[in-house]
Parts: sequence; structure tokens; C-alpha cells
Amino acid sequence: MSIMGRFAPTPSGRLHIGNVYALLCAWAHARQRGGTLVLRIEDLDALRCPKEYADLIAEDLQWLGLDWDEGAYLGKDCDKYFQSRRSEIYQEYLNRLEKDGHLFPCFCSRGELHAADAPHLSDGRYRYPGTCRNLTKEEIAIKRFIRPPALRVRVNDVPINFVDEHYGVQTYILEEDSGDFIVQRSDGVFAYHLAVVVDDALMGVNEIVRGRDLLDSVPVQLYLYKLLGFTPPQYCHIPLLVDQDGRRLAKRDKDLDIGVLREKYTPETIIGYLAWQIGLISKNEKITAKEFLQIFDVNKLPHEDIILKGEI
Ligand code: GLU
Repeated sequence: MSIMGRFAPTPSGRLHIGNVYALLCAWAHARQRGGTLVLRIEDLDALRCPKEYADLIAEDLQWLGLDWDEGAYLGKDCDKYFQSRRSEIYQEYLNRLEKDGHLFPCFCSRGELHAADAPHLSDGRYRYPGTCRNLTKEEIAIKRFIRPPALRVRVNDVPINFVDEHYGVQTYILEEDSGDFIVQRSDGVFAYHLAVVVDDALMGVNEIVRGRDLLDSVPVQLYLYKLLGFTPPQYCHIPLLVDQDGRRLAKRDKDLDIGVLREKYTPETIIGYLAWQIGLISKNEKITAKEFLQIFDVNKLPHEDIILKGEI
């Protein structure tokens, strides 16, 4: 079977070094196996994702030497690879879930859910306690006057098992771990889980390499794959890059923003630094994206997050 990987950045800011590392790994993992890649711009929340950032992401990927075979910025139909242009498609699949009886309207605000007795999971996320799961038609009609609802998918207590290429066998029970999940927010924006599953399935993506912060989203996504009758992809999650305090690198760390790094360093310096950080090479030296591709081996990556050390 031919491999189709993907780049799926959210353009809510310029790429930072943690994004670059994840994109490099996704690219190398697919290319090593003769696979192709698609670039999809995950700008579902268009207000948070100005087009300039998407343009810069494409430009930064090219600057780094990472290429893709279809998707945004390639060919004449490339606009359809922007999630902000795909609402009709998401609506069609949402309607299907609705018709099959998997959805219910939820009127809880985020604040209410956090404040109430929603059971909090150890990592700070919360499980939806099922507040609006069994509202009557009359209750729904009354609540609609007060605020528009989000739409949630009703989950069950059947264990979901999958094997992640790097983190191994995983078992989740959605009812206990996350509860019923949102597929459309109350402001009408489609939720990440729905969009990502529909897009990956329709775009033929069968291999997903991304940060381990999204490992927990797999069971929700597999649940949607099943409800919508799609074949799920293979997953390979990779450890996160973190700072000395164990905090995940984020867009707030401006000095590790690719815009800043590009002013000071070449792509080879940045890629070599990353290859050294993640244990693919023993010292900090320049390498090209093509050289990274030759030495990349997900088995050499640790399972724990990687603390950035030393200067670029
Ligand atoms: N768009 C997400 C991000 O940039 C990635 C989603 C995914 O890989 O499924 O964090």
C-alpha cells in the first residue's frame, strides 16, 4: 500500500522550533517509505488564523527543504486544502452523524463545565459529565432561546484499542476518559476532531506522525472513523520538545520562532541542531533535510519528552 502522510499545521502564528521538528519527522517518516505528503492548512477558526501565517508556513517549509506532493500552494485547486474553505463538506458529515442519531445539542458554557463538578482528569482536562445528554425536546426548545448549542457526539463505554508505532498499545474508554465530545461549537465553527478525520479520510492520508500531545485525541478520532465508515490511518506520535522546566515549547517562546531563527541561521544549522537534540546525531553539526531523511529513525527517539539543551 502506498503511504500518504501529511503536514497539518494550524496557522495561528509563525512556526516555532517544536513545529519544525514535528514537520521534519512527519516528512522523513513518509519519504523514507516512498510515501507522498499532503499540506493541509488547519485554519478552522479563521479569526485566529490569518492567511499571512499560512503563506509563511508554506514558505518556511520550502526554505527548510521540506516538500509535499499535493495540497495547499500546489496546483490550481489548492484552496480546497484550507479547512476554512471546507465547511460544506464538514456539514455533510455532521448531517450524517445527526441522521444516524449520534449527536445531541449541548448548552453548557465552558465556564459552567469547568466550575461545576465535572470530574477533572489528572492532566487538567475535564471529562464532559453528560449534563445535556438526555434533555427532553421541550427542554431543548426552551434552552435554544437562551443560547445556541454546541453539538456533541454521544460516546460509549466500549474500550478502544490501537497500536501507536512509537508509544505501543493504547486502550481508552471514551465514556470514562473524555465523555461526549464536541463536533460543532456553539458559534458554528466545526471542531478539530470532525475536520481532521473527514479531511484525512477524504485526502487518502494513511499515516499520521505528530506530537504526543495529540495521542489522547486518537480514540475520539477512531470513534469518528468508525461512525463515518472510514478506514483509520496508522499513528506514530513523537515526544515533545520542552524547555528546561519541562514546559512545552510554544509560540510564546519568540526566540525559537522560525522567523527569528531564519535571520540568524541556515536551514542546515537548524535541522542539524534538531537532529542532535533528538539523538539522531552525536554532535551539533549542520545537516540538510535530505541527510535528516536518511538518518531518521523513530525508534531512536525517547518516549519521554526531550529537554532542549545547548545553543543552536
Ligand atoms: N493542526 C494541529 C496542530 O497544528 C495538528 C493536528 C493533527 O496533527 O491532527 O497542532
